[in-house]
Amino acid sequence: MRKIVITGGAGFAGSHIVDEACQKYPDARVVVLDKMTYAGDVRNISHHVFSNRVQLLVGDVADLDLCRRVVKGACLVIHAAAESHVDNSFGNSLEFTRTNVLGTHALIEACRQERVPKVVHVSTDEVYGEVMSGAAAEDDVLRPTNPYSSSKAAAEMILRGYIQSYHEPIVIIRANNLYGIRQFPEKIIPRFICHLLTGRRLPLHGNGSNRRHYLSTRDFARAVLFVAEQGVVGETYNIGTTEEYTNLEMAELVCKHFGRSVDQLVDFVPDRPFNDARYSISWSKLQGMGWKPQHSLREDLGMLVDWYRDNLERYTELFGTPEVQAITQTLAML
Ligand code: NAD
Repeated sequence: MRKIVITGGAGFAGSHIVDEACQKYPDARVVVLDKMTYAGDVRNISHHVFSNRVQLLVGDVADLDLCRRVVKGACLVIHAAAESHVDNSFGNSLEFTRTNVLGTHALIEACRQERVPKVVHVSTDEVYGEVMSGAAAEDDVLRPTNPYSSSKAAAEMILRGYIQSYHEPIVIIRANNLYGIRQFPEKIIPRFICHLLTGRRLPLHGNGSNRRHYLSTRDFARAVLFVAEQGVVGETYNIGTTEEYTNLEMAELVCKHFGRSVDQLVDFVPDRPFNDARYSISWSKLQGMGWKPQHSLREDLGMLVDWYRDNLERYTELFGTPEVQAITQTLAML
């Protein structure tokens, strides 16, 4: 039976890769290695764990011995574990370096020692830094601007060394911002949705003019496995979409869905120490191989809101118990 290892599989993006892998390879054994930080939630993959499709191992990717044991015999390793929230990286940047850089190094060294035949590393469009016009291509220079994106770029540099020195069979993907169910509500879309569901106002960084592209996690997960199968070892692939919003436009989109006006609900809050104005990538390389996005946020927003409404109890620590939420909502109506 083929063994596929997915690090960070109990997190947001990782759990969608787990879904896709289970669907695409029904006879494979999927092993998730996850440290279960605040961002990991067993409920993200419990449907697979309970049906014995997926084995969840709780541990740290920075632990070389553990990684060796986990990846031994795997035909594919997909590395999605990371500290992923830019805001947190300003206050806790060493933890980002530990997990994202040292963790990637330990994992790839384990893969080298255990001769894993293919590794897909999940990176981000943020490694290119700000792109105000045009779109970054895979060979462009990396100019990260915050501790999160710097740690992701540093991880890629380690991998480049392994590709050149050891001919490690690594493929790197760099994705746009993702949206989808199960995203922890520290990120903008679920945060706005949960705030509106619980009668709260929307905090908006700076003047709301920063722009981001938003790609469905379903399209992302499909692309990850597409690249795992068809990607050329040593190559990097951008995964993107044309759907782009400023943060203010995002607030408007979500408010409109709730039948509310953004003017009444937004609080402009101090910006990050540095906040890239815009990211933009070209994914023509992947498109040329036959992949393109199939979903859009505009179409998926209703489904997302329904999911967060049905699963608000997961986020009690952030938004209070159902009773507190009901009171906050009632007060907001007055
Ligand atoms: P997430 O924060 O939702 O999940 C990260 C997962 O990694 C969690 O389950 C966490 O417990 C686990 N983890 C953290 N530290 C670990 C460690 N030391 N060892 C093992 N597991 C650990 O993140 P996400 O948004 O799902 O992002 C997943 C990957 O996708 C990351 O590499 C991120 O850089 C990349 N990415 C995310 C986006 C996005 O918009 N979310 C966009 C592009 C790329």
